[in-house]
Amino acid sequence: MMLLTKKNRADLPELYSQDGKGYDAIAHVKFFTPWSNWTWYATEFDPETGRFFGLVQGTEEELGYFMLSELEAVKGKWGLKIERDRHFSPKSLREVAKNPPPKDDGNCAKCGATPDDGMRERVANGDPDICEPCYKFEYNLA
Ligand SMILES: [Zn+2]
Repeated sequence: MMLLTKKNRADLPELYSQDGKGYDAIAHVKFFTPWSNWTWYATEFDPETGRFFGLVQGTEEELGYFMLSELEAVKGKWGLKIERDRHFSPKSLREVAKNPPPKDDGNCAKCGATPDDGMRERVANGDPDICEPCYKFEYNLA
């Protein structure tokens, strides 16, 4: 199987183009080992170097770089090779991750109130923002 078709190459955004999006970046291509449970979700690709960025699920789950040449070179049990999931359609890493980090949506980290309710930053301990009532409760100001 050809791991990366012309269409895949056209679909994959340039390396670093989804920088800062974290788990909200969109994966365009999925690779997997048919003989075990390793999976690679590619969000970006550099055609010059054959370098991907994306989510790798193996013994652990992490964001990182991986090379097309490495995927092509892997030989598994019974001579099996890594395959591309033909039926995969673009999804955010948050949708495919087993343990996605909580989403920082700007809402109160404690009660989920929206920023319209007035937010306070807890700069001291680096916690996410919380709303005014939660802030008062937390610091016994009520
Ligand atoms: Zn709150």
